[in-house]
Amino acid sequence: MLDDAGLQALRDAARLSPDNLPLRQHLAGQLLAKGYLGEAEAEYRAALVLAPKDADITAGLAEAFVRQSAHGAALAALEPLLASPGYPPKLGVLAARALLGEGDTAGAAYRYHEAVSRDPSVGDADLAARLSAPPVSPYGAPPAPYPTPAPASADQASAEVERSKLTFAEVAGMEAVKESLRVKLLLPLQQPELFAAYGKRAGGGVLLYGPPGAGKTHLARAAAGELGASFVNVGLADILDMYIGSSERNLRATFDLARRNRPCVLFFDEVDALAGRRSDMRQAHTRQLVNQFLAELDGVDQNANEGVLVLAATNAPWYVDVAFRRPGRFDQPVFVPPPDPAARAAILRILCRDKPLAEMDFDAVARVTDHFVGADLKGVVDRAVEVKLHQSISAGRPIPLSTPDLLAAAQSVRPTAVREWMATARNYVMHANDSGAWDELMPWVKGKW
Ligand code: ADP
Repeated sequence: MLDDAGLQALRDAARLSPDNLPLRQHLAGQLLAKGYLGEAEAEYRAALVLAPKDADITAGLAEAFVRQSAHGAALAALEPLLASPGYPPKLGVLAARALLGEGDTAGAAYRYHEAVSRDPSVGDADLAARLSAPPVSPYGAPPAPYPTPAPASADQASAEVERSKLTFAEVAGMEAVKESLRVKLLLPLQQPELFAAYGKRAGGGVLLYGPPGAGKTHLARAAAGELGASFVNVGLADILDMYIGSSERNLRATFDLARRNRPCVLFFDEVDALAGRRSDMRQAHTRQLVNQFLAELDGVDQNANEGVLVLAATNAPWYVDVAFRRPGRFDQPVFVPPPDPAARAAILRILCRDKPLAEMDFDAVARVTDHFVGADLKGVVDRAVEVKLHQSISAGRPIPLSTPDLLAAAQSVRPTAVREWMATARNYVMHANDSGAWDELMPWVKGKW
């Protein structure tokens, strides 16, 4: 029992819905603010299981460690995020506090100044005063905008292996998309004899494309869970790392990581950054990276990628290099559409599943959320939960979420980019569709957006 009644009520509410991330995060934040450091640490750890690599949660956990003088633990918690370029500056300040705690003043000063140079608002006068040493890089080089990981890690894949608990049951709607993934990905692994009989090999990749937030990552993760496969998620930051570091070795290491963990779904998010025709990428380097990617995808021998399913996602399929779409590679792109009203109701039902609920009319909410994608609906639910949480704290008991809560939250959330995305897509479908690559989009862009 905590001797703070509000906190205890919050903790009881969290026990009622253990998978409710915003609730856990709120509870952890309150515990930290009130100095219950061990309890805060435990809550942040639990939250991190629900949302690995979340920057705010990691920051909370690191702070709980630092304030308990567990500096090594704080650095270990921060390390995965600090390895990515452009990490949130506040994490740099926390790392500085931990490094100082370990007696590494030079390292701390470097981290601190690097963070503050990117975002002065994270400055901490007290810490700055204790860091009297000038900001010399402990890595021997002049301070770079993004300190890259030590070269010793160049052979290591920065991505991690996840075990996904999601299955297709947690993906609302998208029946056609799920069916097509089943045929392309799951059946060849589940019934290899049948596919072999027709001379088909498991392998190759599937390119998922569609507006941001429509559920591509969610779907990929669910495909891994559906298959009982491990999941390796290579995000934009990892891809950009490959530009900075020794790309071939990093890319090879990432594919090898997936091969060591087969069956495995290897997911490349925002793959257009890798396979793009973007003017801001140095052309020669891009080409080299594309070639390396395709070589890994094709596999050095017949069996290299057996049991490795490569999924890639993009919001901008028109930027993806045509070499990607050759037979045996990402030859049949799959469109992940924005949800229709029935799918929106189903997404809301899934998103609310682990929350204390009153009688719900999800269809009513679906009707007023035209143009909302899954990510927007998640925003609606998070907002409604936040409000409910405050009410529950005042009331001293958990109050269930109701339809009017969701309707009110929907009023205050603006749908993201679907309309703009459809306008761009319409341009490509109407004016750059000689190959018929975007035929699948035709009925969509003709609709009203
Ligand atoms: P994308 O990768 O297309 O940008 P995400 O997969 O990150 O989109 O979707 C954002 C969030 O929206 C997901 O984490 C998930 O909670 C929710 N979501 C999206 N689509 C669905 C769906 N079909 N069913 C259930 N939840 C969904």
